[in-house]
Amino acid sequence: MTEGQLDVLESKKQEETEVLSCDNCGGNTVFDPATGSMKCPFCGTENAIEATHHNVMELDFNEGLEQEDVSWNKEKRVFRCDGCGAETVLDRDADADFCSFCGSSHIAKSDNRPGIKPSLVVPFKVPQEEAVAKFKTWIGKRYFAPSKLKNSYELDRLSGAYIPYWTFDSHTDSTYTVRIGTYYYVTVTKTVYEDGKPKQVTEQVRKIRWRTQHGRYSEFFDDVLVKASRNVASGLIGNVEPFQLNHLVDYKTEYVSGFLAERYSIPLKAGWEDAKSIMDVEIRGGILSQEYGDEVQIISVSTNYKEITYKHILLPLWISSFRFNQKIYRFLVNGQTGKVSGQAPISFWKVSFTVLAVLAVVAVVLYFFDVY
Ligand SMILES: [Zn+2]
Ligand SMILES: [Zn+2]
Repeated sequence: MTEGQLDVLESKKQEETEVLSCDNCGGNTVFDPATGSMKCPFCGTENAIEATHHNVMELDFNEGLEQEDVSWNKEKRVFRCDGCGAETVLDRDADADFCSFCGSSHIAKSDNRPGIKPSLVVPFKVPQEEAVAKFKTWIGKRYFAPSKLKNSYELDRLSGAYIPYWTFDSHTDSTYTVRIGTYYYVTVTKTVYEDGKPKQVTEQVRKIRWRTQHGRYSEFFDDVLVKASRNVASGLIGNVEPFQLNHLVDYKTEYVSGFLAERYSIPLKAGWEDAKSIMDVEIRGGILSQEYGDEVQIISVSTNYKEITYKHILLPLWISSFRFNQKIYRFLVNGQTGKVSGQAPISFWKVSFTVLAVLAVVAVVLYFFDVY
């Protein structure tokens, strides 16, 4: 590396740290969900972030496949969890001592790269204190959760994580074959028995005449959303959806400062396969709605995808993961809307005592009412 190149690197580094330092005292700032600014933990100054919308172009899918390993490298590094395999993307100078996705402390710096840089982000709106308060209320209502868990739970393990998604755009052109059925009726005569005597009756029976039809169908898809994380169960995350995607802003380092991001575990190519199956369902629906008949059945569809573009987006989630008897339980708060969802272990003893107590009450009632 030449001296010139080093200078460039050095000024680039300076640029990045300058963005994140306090205008008033120069201290390192972190993103503050409550105000949407970079708040200085030293002097309290709220440094404004200029949010920009849709400066980011759709990116070419095929170029993305080639760039996968280079684009988010400079500012970030990756930690890998031995427990669940989740990969966490953190600021260069930040350290991780536990895995947010399973609670394990077996987490180490990885040689893996952060991957494709995000294009858009929904910044955190729910502050940590609010997420903690929601967790306390929630765990308080889990009557059958073991007391040990309720009392000793480490609340500082609630972490703010950006979860990766892909969105895809594409023009689609499909050719298809359907069979179209038309009803017709035939009159049949049959013998029935009335009071043991045979009688001839006629009856209308419905039949279907099929014919094969070929056709074309085109549709443009805009922002088909696909989850790029395998580490947060779809069901659980589904409970805290939706995210308001009209609040997406262009990605800036500031928004992720003080938070972590999950490295996508579903790569761009696999994400595209998921997007295709989402589009396929819609294409089939479109075909069925443009063919008329008493019955229409799709025999085959062949789709050509053109002008495929993608974006990598990050959505905010407060996550707390705890291991209990070898199982992972998670609690999630939507970092934008505050919607809550979680799983809690059930204490065998608490359930047993409750059942016994109910039985005892029943026995007492039966005794006093002398039902025996
Ligand atoms: Zn300051
Ligand atoms: Zn883990």
